[in-house]
Amino acid sequence: MPGVTRDRITSQCKLGNYPFEIIDTGGIGANVDASFTEQVRAEVEIALGSADVLLFVVDGQDGLTPLDQELARLMRRTAKPLLLAINKIDVDQHGPRAAEFSQLGFSESIAISAEHNRGILPLVAWLERMLPAPIFDEAGPGSDPASPIKIAIVGRPNVGKSSLTNAILNDDRTLVSPISGTTRDAIDIPYERHGQHYVLIDTAGIRPRGKVDNSVEVFSVMRSETSIRRADICCLVIDAEQGVTAQDKRIAGMIQEENKPCIVAFNKWDLIKDRTDSKEELKEVLDGLREELFFIPYAPSMLVSAKTGAELTRLFKTIERIRSESQFRIGTGVLNRLLAEAVALHPPAMKSGKRLKVLFGTQPDRPHGKVIPIPEFVLFVNDDGLLDQSYHRYLDSKLREKAPYTGLPILLHLRARA
Ligand code: GDP
Repeated sequence: MPGVTRDRITSQCKLGNYPFEIIDTGGIGANVDASFTEQVRAEVEIALGSADVLLFVVDGQDGLTPLDQELARLMRRTAKPLLLAINKIDVDQHGPRAAEFSQLGFSESIAISAEHNRGILPLVAWLERMLPAPIFDEAGPGSDPASPIKIAIVGRPNVGKSSLTNAILNDDRTLVSPISGTTRDAIDIPYERHGQHYVLIDTAGIRPRGKVDNSVEVFSVMRSETSIRRADICCLVIDAEQGVTAQDKRIAGMIQEENKPCIVAFNKWDLIKDRTDSKEELKEVLDGLREELFFIPYAPSMLVSAKTGAELTRLFKTIERIRSESQFRIGTGVLNRLLAEAVALHPPAMKSGKRLKVLFGTQPDRPHGKVIPIPEFVLFVNDDGLLDQSYHRYLDSKLREKAPYTGLPILLHLRARA
């Protein structure tokens, strides 16, 4: 997939069973010749604000720089646990190079070599001690089935995310709940529409209309990633007038990688409508836009206009459709007949002298408390290395003939059985 993960800067990790997330702020000061601009300061402050634990990496070969000293000053102001990691201490003889960093005045430091894997184990052990107690997902067993759907409106700058958010909240059919924390600039905005409950999440990352965005793209990508992970449904906003860009594709790729339900909203439809009113031409435009997003085939797309409020009703109908179709189950009998027919109609190709055999399939019980569970199937097969991408797509489309699972990815888990 083109350019999907190139700019990844956060990563989900685990120590034992303990989940945590690494944020790499690689962009800090990268283009500013070690000078400390307001821009760099703003970036550092965002990074410091969002982390629980700080790892301050300095270059042991370059030695102490003014930028290091400036960063250290900012970091000392936070009360967060900090480890100074002096990198590029590749061999024991480099040890003395680390000494000058003691001037920075941090109580804990460690000499490492990322390239030669030196000092990494003690670094991880330190992290393990410092990580805060885990917070478990609120959608655990027993959570209310009528829970609100968390919707993340994501997209690159200027596609109309804030306008769309405002259009939704100003729509006659929407009631913004008057309880605390529901002001427009709150991060999560709960609201109700036709008696259904929703939460627009991470709206603080969506800047107000008209404001110029100075923060580096890195941080907007970071925010999108967090929003995508927290959401039940992602609404990917794309500027229909400009067409699908590489950055739009990157965000679509993140949604697809996280296996998140998705709707693509091509915004600024009013501009296209100004040019043509012919149904065929509009369909052509939509088809053309859609083709660019071939790698997220399960996401339905629609033309909307934040400016006129057009098609918001359709957007919410689709959201409700995703909610109801996510509850659909294919019974084991039906599933196995479907699989047998699919394989008979179009047998898998031979792969290094072997052919995939699907012995049995089942749709396991979904986890409790998920507002929108992702459909999952377990297929027992002769060899789990034999399913290629095109056959995977074929089985996916066969399952959707039985249950369309609009907007939902389908997860196929293969289990090899001798
Ligand atoms: P964001 O950065 O994604 O939040 O985008 P904004 O909501 O700030 O919108 C960027 C620009 O596009 C603003 O000038 C909006 O007025 C304009 N805009 C947003 N939605 C629409 C729309 O549906 N139609 C038209 N014509 N302009 C829009």
